[in-house]
Amino acid sequence: MKLKRTLSIIKPDAIQAKFQGKILDFLEDKGFNILAQKRIKLTKSQAEAFYEIHRDKPFFNELIEFMISGEISVQVLEAEDAISYYRTVMGNTDPNEADEGTIRKLYGTNIQCNAVHGSDSEENANNE
Ligand code: ATP
Ligand code: MG
Repeated sequence: MKLKRTLSIIKPDAIQAKFQGKILDFLEDKGFNILAQKRIKLTKSQAEAFYEIHRDKPFFNELIEFMISGEISVQVLEAEDAISYYRTVMGNTDPNEADEGTIRKLYGTNIQCNAVHGSDSEENANNE
């Protein structure tokens, strides 16, 4: 099967907690190739554009404040069926609902501070 790419973000909570190294090790153990990586701090307008789809949600403002609260680490990951595979490896949005052995179960705190982002479609992966 052809290798595909997805976009991953290690969010401010996990960077702050110094989980970056553990998460990257975990991704390589799960078979991902880390093709590119950059540590950045989003501006408010970048974060709003990134999560534009959630603009009308009650948690939008809180989500933006969280995403700009500190640095993030962005990765381009490669694997077979990378997008859906990474969604499985990340686990449920809410760490309390996530399966054992998923990144969010291991390193997430709550439904907002859930350690990582992963693209949810090929179109979004390319855009992101
Ligand atoms: P992501 O898009 O970050 O990969 P996801 O696709 O699992 O996560 P979405 O529904 O797209 O989940 O929500 C985007 C992000 O918004 C979540 O990862 C989380 O940080 C935050 N979020 C989602 N639901 C809530 C909520 N009910 N309360 C607070 N924050 C939330
Ligand atoms: Mg999403």
